[in-house]
Amino acid sequence: DLGLYERQDLPIEELIEKDIPDCTSNLRKEKMSYTFSQQYEEKIRPCIDTIDKLRSLGVEKDLALPAIAVIGDQSSGKSSVLEALSGVALPRGSGIVTRCPLELKMIRTKDEEKWHGRISYLGKEEDIDDPAEVEKKIREAQDEMAGPGVGISEELISLQITSANVPDLTLIDLPGIARVAVKGQPENIGDQIKRLIRKFVTKQETINLVVVPCNVDIATTEALQMAQEEDREGERTLGILTKPDLVDKGTEETVVDIVHNEIIHLTKGYMIVRCRGQKEILDQVTLNEATVTEKAFFQDHPHFSKLYEEGFATIPKLAEKLTIELVHHIQRSLPHLEEQIENKLAETQKELEKYGNGPPSDPAERLSFFIDKVTAFTQDMFNLTTGEEVKSYTWYHLIVLLLLANKIEKQVGNYEAKYRGRELPGFINYKTFEGLVREQIKLLEEPALKTLKTASDVVRKKFIQLAQFSFVGFPNLLKIAKTKIEAIKQDKESQAESMLRTQFKMELIVYSQDGTYSQSLQDAKEMLEEEEDESSHRKPKKFNFVSVDICTGSRATLREMKLHLESYYKIASKRLADQIPMVIRYLLLQEAALELQRNMLQLLQNKDDVDNLLKEDFDIGQKRESLLSRQDRLMKARSILFTF
Ligand code: GDP
Ligand code: MG
Repeated sequence: DLGLYERQDLPIEELIEKDIPDCTSNLRKEKMSYTFSQQYEEKIRPCIDTIDKLRSLGVEKDLALPAIAVIGDQSSGKSSVLEALSGVALPRGSGIVTRCPLELKMIRTKDEEKWHGRISYLGKEEDIDDPAEVEKKIREAQDEMAGPGVGISEELISLQITSANVPDLTLIDLPGIARVAVKGQPENIGDQIKRLIRKFVTKQETINLVVVPCNVDIATTEALQMAQEEDREGERTLGILTKPDLVDKGTEETVVDIVHNEIIHLTKGYMIVRCRGQKEILDQVTLNEATVTEKAFFQDHPHFSKLYEEGFATIPKLAEKLTIELVHHIQRSLPHLEEQIENKLAETQKELEKYGNGPPSDPAERLSFFIDKVTAFTQDMFNLTTGEEVKSYTWYHLIVLLLLANKIEKQVGNYEAKYRGRELPGFINYKTFEGLVREQIKLLEEPALKTLKTASDVVRKKFIQLAQFSFVGFPNLLKIAKTKIEAIKQDKESQAESMLRTQFKMELIVYSQDGTYSQSLQDAKEMLEEEEDESSHRKPKKFNFVSVDICTGSRATLREMKLHLESYYKIASKRLADQIPMVIRYLLLQEAALELQRNMLQLLQNKDDVDNLLKEDFDIGQKRESLLSRQDRLMKARSILFTF
């Protein structure tokens, strides 16, 4: 444990560049202690503490924290590496064993503190006092999340281990990449797993530990390919070679070249480790014993001993390297993290504004709060009544004109046939005219009332929309507003209806001021003459002459009647087209709004009512709570980063 002491003055970055001399040779034999120099302690601890503090605040829910993910093909030895690093037995073996992402948080404590574990998943938390329990607990958790058997889940199991014998590290173990689905697995299990892995390796905050056994062709391993896809230069990727004891005879030097970073280059390079094989597990070789065996294996190996001397081999070396990498990574991630926190904070702030402050608890303040809410609502309502929204109802005018244009000829024709008395053709009967007018006006009554109903529905919808917007989060208040809107709508609608009916009754008195009528008649005459003029020009002369000659008598009556009807309709329709929108505007909007305001303000009379009306929607309250706690969390996180 000397090497680092000689380099006390070096900054951490340089320590990372240089290979680190073996300072942990007796590791695990006596007591696992990752002995770093004083200064090193000073640099590592604050870094990892910072991230740990952020993590314990729960900001991981809001943003990605620096982490190390372990990826590799099935049975490449991922869990074995983690196990060796953490000192606790994890579920492992052949086939798919790791079925959920497992976050392994290792927290190194002072020597005297005793081992403590805690597993959490699906919102549950459980303490573990005995390291031997860990494996069972993880299996239980996996069964619960992914179902018993061979399925996988994307939910995270978190295992926190506090001990004097672990490195300060957080690692995430992932299901291994499977090529073919085994019995009971969905066909696309391979894709499912890859998607899950990709979720982790794409994150800029993750260091990818790619585990590759020495006895396969490294270039073809899918795990390495995936890591490279997401991390072209290999800046976040560290290769770990496992099972050196199973290396194919004759390929040892290739393995050495790989570790020397000469075959597939990764900026972070490679490490090589030897873990317990299946037989050693059956023989109950302890992890501590395995560490001794591992060291001896490398020291005595004809090819790999140089890797050991160069500091590329063994689990303790890997632990060291990872810690350094993580610290380095954290340091580099911090500015980005700060930025993320700022963004998230702003976002949270904005969302909080959307939810408002919620009702105050002080009774007097509650009253003002209520008044403000209701006033804002009624204000919006009045804006609506004076706004442009209701212009569209003048389309009624159009209906009237349409009726006029299309039917006048037919009406007159029919009426002539049915009602013409003993007068000779060519005489205009005032009674005929009056009858025609009345009949036509009556035809307009139902469409007009329909228009009224439509308008009334639209207004109600608008009011309800306003209420929904103004009283969001206050279900009781919204409910009462809706009830009142409905009642007032009914009331005003029937008032308006009787008003319109009266109007139509009045229209049965065929009336207009003489002056107005003469003017209208004059206009109609001029228009008709113009029309006739035009059409006579268009028709060949001789036919025109004949046809006029034949039907002169009845044609003249028709023509005259048409003129009168047109003139009168124009006056009556103008009257109606003004009146109906006025009724709508006055009763359905203005009066209804006033009445609603009165009704809403009357609610103030009873204090208990107000309390009840201000009861917040449970969801909104919760959402605000969670936003507030996120805001709190992020602000704390920010200040942790500031003081770092
Ligand atoms: P995972 O599926 O990638 O998590 O792989 P495991 O860690 O479960 O390991 C798969 C198998 O390889 C287990 O039976 C381990 O005991 C064995 N194994 C892991 N590392 C080594 C090693 O360095 N040497 C030998 N001989 N076997 C190993
Ligand atoms: Mg595993």
